[in-house]
Amino acid sequence: MSQKYVSNRIALEMGGGADEGWSKIMKLAKGTDMINLGQGFPDFIPKGLAEAMNGGVTRALHDVPSCQYSPMRGHSRLIQAIIDLRRTLYDEKDLDPKNICVVCSGTEALYAAMQTFVNPGDEVVLFEPFFPWYLPAVRMAGGIPIVVELKKPDFRIHEVDLKRAFSSKTKLCVFNTPHNPTGAVASVEDMRLIASYCKTHDALCVSDEVYEICAFDRKKRPHVTMRDVDKEMTGRTLVLSSASKLLSVTGWRVGWIVGPEPLVNAVSATHSYVTFCAPTPLQIGVAAGIEDVLRSCTTKTQHVEDAFGLATLFGKNWLTLADALRDVGLMVCPAQGGYFLVCDCASTGLEDVAFCKWLIENAKIVGVPLSLFYSDPNKTRHLIRFAICKTEKAMKRAADALRAVKSIIPRI
Ligand code: PMP
Repeated sequence: MSQKYVSNRIALEMGGGADEGWSKIMKLAKGTDMINLGQGFPDFIPKGLAEAMNGGVTRALHDVPSCQYSPMRGHSRLIQAIIDLRRTLYDEKDLDPKNICVVCSGTEALYAAMQTFVNPGDEVVLFEPFFPWYLPAVRMAGGIPIVVELKKPDFRIHEVDLKRAFSSKTKLCVFNTPHNPTGAVASVEDMRLIASYCKTHDALCVSDEVYEICAFDRKKRPHVTMRDVDKEMTGRTLVLSSASKLLSVTGWRVGWIVGPEPLVNAVSATHSYVTFCAPTPLQIGVAAGIEDVLRSCTTKTQHVEDAFGLATLFGKNWLTLADALRDVGLMVCPAQGGYFLVCDCASTGLEDVAFCKWLIENAKIVGVPLSLFYSDPNKTRHLIRFAICKTEKAMKRAADALRAVKSIIPRI
């Protein structure tokens, strides 16, 4: 079809950028014996949970109302499950259904938030490296991205950068913790710093917390929700959550937005015109999964994050892969949570894309160049991201495959 029909807005987002970079690497990664640590999706469904979730979906498929539109802002059973979950996770006692809007994934939540709050010309502060969908979401709303670069190895926030980025034109900032792609979990101090800039400049915060239950060590560095930083932030923050990561069902496309009633009302209007509601049977399945986890916390007096079981597994996986990468001479950036590990391949003398190709050809391991996660890929050329949201067995296979190529790994 001729490009002349495509709107200027979308033409700008087609081809090139992260989308093209991804496709190139994923093409190379095709092959049955590849260890795919490229895209961030689990290679398992948590055992007990699968039964509860599938049971919920199966029953819903035999029930006429459950096969029809749910209320626009979400099925009542899922909304109640989200309220119960946040009470357990964050001790939020006064959350009301009016504070929640269920959507089709974190990706829709992000798009809807930008469409709802950003006017053409408004500035939106982003922290890079970032989830590559942030930039198009801001641009498609006519916003101007103001990018703050987080520096390796710890990817922390520095006040001087915030001072430069925030101004009277700032409409909102998008903040993500635990972080994709670096695995950094923000400290309370860093979150307070961002909060102080949002408040001073009367900006909103879209707090992307889709990896909320993946902080490896909740005693040392727990995940803190931006809603909890202080009362004023509760009033200007929209938290994005997703069943993709919470329940390891990235294909179900169920997510939710939590925030103050007036902001949630506004974003719900956009949601109603984009998808109207998330698939009802899958909302019921997600509700059944959350209920199952919360039940097991009560009966086994288990901590809710342990009941989900992901943080411990991913923490272990991170160590397994980090040990192997260090053994073969690569530097690993520290991380405290999330789905990913970042390593530095500068010691090989190869740039990130070339080293990803080398790993695919020689070790059959797929990683992703971190340059895909920057507004300008030239900002970094030696960092690689690996997904650690896999079974222990897959991670051990990757570690063995790495050690097996130790003697031929390029060195400068
Ligand atoms: N935010 C971040 C930081 C992500 O990494 C992702 C997916 N990888 C999303 C949002 C979107 O998640 P989903 O659309 O699967 O809910």
